Amino acid sequence: MVPTTVQHQEDALGLLRASLSVGHVGHSYLFHGPAGVGKTRAALWLARALLCSSPTKAGEPCDACSACAEAAALRHPDLELLLPLPSFRTEGRTEKQADEARSAARAGALARYASEPFFAPVFAKQPVHTVDDLARAKQFLSMTPQRDGGAKVLIIKGAEAMTGPAAHAFLKILEEPQPGRVLILGARQIRALLPTIASRCLHVRFRPLPESFLARALEARGVTKPTARLAAALSQGSLGRAIAPFEAPLDGTGAAPDEGDFATLRAAAHDLFVKPPSAAIVGTLRRGRLERDRGRFLSAVSLAVHFYRDVLRLKILGGDVALANEDRKREVAAAAASLPLPALSRRIRLLEEIAAAVQSNVTVAYAVASAQHRMGLGVP
Ligand SMILES: [Zn+2]
Repeated sequence: MVPTTVQHQEDALGLLRASLSVGHVGHSYLFHGPAGVGKTRAALWLARALLCSSPTKAGEPCDACSACAEAAALRHPDLELLLPLPSFRTEGRTEKQADEARSAARAGALARYASEPFFAPVFAKQPVHTVDDLARAKQFLSMTPQRDGGAKVLIIKGAEAMTGPAAHAFLKILEEPQPGRVLILGARQIRALLPTIASRCLHVRFRPLPESFLARALEARGVTKPTARLAAALSQGSLGRAIAPFEAPLDGTGAAPDEGDFATLRAAAHDLFVKPPSAAIVGTLRRGRLERDRGRFLSAVSLAVHFYRDVLRLKILGGDVALANEDRKREVAAAAASLPLPALSRRIRLLEEIAAAVQSNVTVAYAVASAQHRMGLGVP
């Protein structure tokens, strides 16, 4: 049995347990917090509690009955998990082929949710909830529950990815609550939703996860300790973000990136922002495959930021401090010896600036050239 329990979210779970124990479950919930911290797992736990045929006295799922098993396998007829997906309407696909590819990606993602404890979907293209997705959700809610008077649970992951028409279709669903229907929205930020949607939901807050937990999750996926530790440090408490560098996009064609790939990215980050071998930015970007992949470029910037943060910590706190780049301690120490504090904090600030610039569509090559110039790097 795959561990489907949620870890390090005691506040959120406490709130849900309290409402289950008094048998007072809301009609619509908004689970908000960073990506990949357990919102979907918690929603699935609540769904099992509502669908379970012999819940505990406290109203929690027994995790032994057939209803619990079906819900855990995402095959319960009264449970629908809606995840945002890219349109797949590119690369010469017909509309029908695109819809088929999208359905296949959905089935693949759901199967992995049901079987892997630390799965978080990764997409190369922007995933969305379309108005058609919401129409299907509405149809699901209108059907009679399997058990007489039983619940029907709709979980919408990444609710901020609803298109405008989809959000309005969903608002209609919210405005006409039906008995026994429970809607659970997951979103990173409340403000990314229509205020009319957010105000109709009970809010449950989820927190970033501890780095040590994320590092163990990566190690459980076969990532070696030093890399796991570094990737965990980069992830800002999000399992989804920690896993992304080792996960093949569901809408891509390539194989899953591996640790060697992460090492390439790390080397590129070093060559661009710590010790450029020459002023040849373009070659380094190409070797690191960073020119056309903004997400990958932002990961490289984040790696450089964490290198300098380690330098800063070592400089301030001294030799015994734990570093994200533990395996590069010698390089971190060399940088700590040669860079004065103001230069260090300036480099970190500049890197954060170029990450923001690239997100608002400045080209990667220009951002690097500008950063290298302002950091005093690039010209040997
Ligand atoms: Zn059960």
